Amino acid sequence: MSKNVVILPGDGIGTEIVEQAVRVLDVVNETHKLGIETQTFAFGGASYDQSGEPLTEETLNACRAADAILLGAIGGPKYDKAPRDKRPERGLLRLRSELGLFSNLRPALLYPELADASSLKPELVGGLDLMILRELTGGIYFGEPRGIEERNGQRVGFNTMVYGEDEIRRIATSGFEIARQRNKRLCSVDKANVLEVSELWREVVIDVAKDYPDVELSHMYVDNAAMQLVREPKQFDVMVTSNLFGDILSDAAAMLTGSIGMLPSASLDINGKGMYEPVHGSAPDIAGTGKANPLATILSVSMMLRYTLNEAAAADQIDTAVATVISNGVRCADIAGTGQSGKETLVNTAQMGDAVVAAIQAS
Ligand code: NAD
Repeated sequence: MSKNVVILPGDGIGTEIVEQAVRVLDVVNETHKLGIETQTFAFGGASYDQSGEPLTEETLNACRAADAILLGAIGGPKYDKAPRDKRPERGLLRLRSELGLFSNLRPALLYPELADASSLKPELVGGLDLMILRELTGGIYFGEPRGIEERNGQRVGFNTMVYGEDEIRRIATSGFEIARQRNKRLCSVDKANVLEVSELWREVVIDVAKDYPDVELSHMYVDNAAMQLVREPKQFDVMVTSNLFGDILSDAAAMLTGSIGMLPSASLDINGKGMYEPVHGSAPDIAGTGKANPLATILSVSMMLRYTLNEAAAADQIDTAVATVISNGVRCADIAGTGQSGKETLVNTAQMGDAVVAAIQAS
């Protein structure tokens, strides 16, 4: 049965990095006979330029019908003066909410050869491979009541951290499923010593764990988790947490790796359908120069094969090819000079694509 992947290159370096990622997808599609068909649509600023809308109904419907979506990046200074509701970011927010993407996967992966790029000591982070799962559509960012009002003669600002059992259950389930596909260890991060919402979170996570006896569950308070992430990050396999805690922890974890051009991400719906994209933006400062590192987007393709299309062998082949390329010293500018000086080859976006494709073909 064929699988349908929608490609949204977007703006700035989005088109350049997606071109390389699609080459990689095409190679594994052919080698593994995956039956993947792709359709490409303008999105974000590129779509606004064509139609006056950052997300057209046609694109939205294609994304709804797709098995998975691969996104480059959107936005750029050109669109800063566009009407607020027509800006590229609005298109992205709408797409995420229309597709019900509640589970955000942010791996923090650091190849041993790039350990010098981290602000932590190489021995603490070299070989780091952890996954942070952040609840994306609930919690304090969406909770009511919220606002700023006058109370007893002074202004008071307030938000509500609220989670229903069902919301906790589905993100916990997502966490256990992901852990099952990795090293089978899940750490749930909360603040159950202070917050009732976290007390319920912990109760429900423990209940969901009954269906996953093969996954080892642990719990950690968020303040300790922040500390442990910089003290001994390699102790974690998968961390699952709420929207606010995940927002902060995933950025901290991303920075452990020191290289934004290397980090993929995914957002999944209740059925495991997902949108896959690099963590970084459209990098207008380097767009068109060939300096963009396509590896985050190539690794997003690998995540798509693993977590939505259930093609682990093809995903493994991409991951191994990227690791080989890195260990051979092939470097885009953003990861150059990381500990292998003298043995590095500096390449542009397309040449990095060439290197990954060649490594896949040689494997
Ligand atoms: P950015 O992530 O685009 O760039 C930050 C820095 O990292 C820049 O110096 C850039 O050159 C560098 N960089 C980013 N990706 C790189 C790559 N693959 N290879 C090499 N270097 C890379 O963040 P920004 O500059 O704050 O934002 C630029 C635009 O991107 C803005 O319009 C912003 O709204 C948009 N944005 C979009 C997304 C998205 O599409 N999901 C996410 C973040 C920002």
